[in-house]
Amino acid sequence: EITNSKPHLVFLSSPGLGHLIPVLELGNRLVTLCNFEVTIFTVLSNTSQTETQLLQSAMTAKICEIIQPPPVDISSLIQPEAAIVTQISVMMREIRPAFRSALSALNFGPAAIIIDLSGTESLEIPKELGIPKYVYMPNNAWFLALTIYLPFLDQVVEGEFVDQKENLEIPGCRPVRPEDVVDPMLDRSNQQYFEYVRVGNEIPKADGILVNTWEALEPTTLAALRDENLLYKTIKIPVFPIGPVRRAVGKVQVGSKCELLNWLDNQPKESVVYVSFGSGGTLSFEQMQEIAYGLEMSHQRFIWVVRRPTIETGDSSFFTTGNVGDDDISRYLPDGFLTRTKNIGRVIPGWGPQVQIIGHPSTGAFFSHCGWNSILESLTNGVPIIGWPLYAEQRLNATLLAEEVGVAVKPKILPSNGVVKREEIVMMIRKIMADEEEGDKIRKRVKEVKENSERALNEGGSSCNALSSFAGECKKGWKR
Ligand code: UDP
Repeated sequence: EITNSKPHLVFLSSPGLGHLIPVLELGNRLVTLCNFEVTIFTVLSNTSQTETQLLQSAMTAKICEIIQPPPVDISSLIQPEAAIVTQISVMMREIRPAFRSALSALNFGPAAIIIDLSGTESLEIPKELGIPKYVYMPNNAWFLALTIYLPFLDQVVEGEFVDQKENLEIPGCRPVRPEDVVDPMLDRSNQQYFEYVRVGNEIPKADGILVNTWEALEPTTLAALRDENLLYKTIKIPVFPIGPVRRAVGKVQVGSKCELLNWLDNQPKESVVYVSFGSGGTLSFEQMQEIAYGLEMSHQRFIWVVRRPTIETGDSSFFTTGNVGDDDISRYLPDGFLTRTKNIGRVIPGWGPQVQIIGHPSTGAFFSHCGWNSILESLTNGVPIIGWPLYAEQRLNATLLAEEVGVAVKPKILPSNGVVKREEIVMMIRKIMADEEEGDKIRKRVKEVKENSERALNEGGSSCNALSSFAGECKKGWKR
């Protein structure tokens, strides 16, 4: 129920669970903690059942008002094989008229508009209407730093980024290894590269940036974003680190508990490796065999969310979330694997109750594609990570976790570049689960990170303060 007694915020969210989840969660937080009313204009990928389900439950919860525009048909505007960033950019471009009409149909004046990363082209709309506008980066500060600095790198770096001999320098931040660049930077002649550079150029047109990280996780990068001699020069707008914004473990009702969670209940504390590659991650058939043998040889307990393998690039199933069709997954696993591991492992087809699994005391490690939502779910539960980056900005995330934060191990070659062998998989599992030196350091560090994430969100913590100062800015200009 919309009233005129509270200030109102409008979100524009872009396709993909990696965007929808943090937008819905931040919306809820602004309603419950900061006393706003929130309307979310959602653009979905239209092929993901999970997105639709998530939106349905948000509509039922009625914390935020949800506007769901009719789907846009972009098929005549792009090549069928267009890259993900291109597809999302075109969708967000085509949705602008609908977003504009939705804004003018509101019977209140919003205090601010918050546009999630892929929708920055719509910043011109609140600008025309004279409404304060913010960009929401649902990922970490290092990715934000790379994105806003890319237009400069674009001017000075010659040739492909991946072919550079030197790391890419970003003022005041950890340099980016050429092999770690985000997907849209892999080919500078592809349309998705131009779309991504455009986003980098557009972000500073906002009045501020909300970023899904916290001070203690990325102190150096956040300081660089505020330093007039470093990255602040590029953006000249405030950055509000308000994270971790993530899904918390919902109440699982007695009686409705699934077999999997009952099984977890019966495993020793921190003994299970949870293996899952997000909403879009798929592996080659060969890589699946290596993981299967690696798990089996490690003798470690595990839960593995298995999808139909692919021979294409890692993000090929991004728009077909969790869909394994009628497939029998045993076809993709080594002969006898399911029988041999039936006492120590559980294989689930397509999609698993991830938040419940990671939040369970029996889970001891997360073998993850390093999507930022997954990472936040892991860190806030104190679960160390085996980083297995596949697509988007995941290589950057994995490096951040392994080399800066110290909560992850990762294979020597990138899983997006080749096949990681079973022996190395066994070694990583042993290190994270049992090693008494490096492994022990990682396990201790991730518990510290869990605690500092809680402190950041608590009353008086850095993220709590950042959210209040953002809320204060929005309320200042709002006229009842
Ligand atoms: N997820 C889940 N079950 C699965 C796979 C993923 O619940 O089997 C959820 C996961 O908890 C996370 C989201 O889907 O909240 C995936 O977001 P992330 O940013 O990690 O990766 P993306 O899918 O965007 O690559």
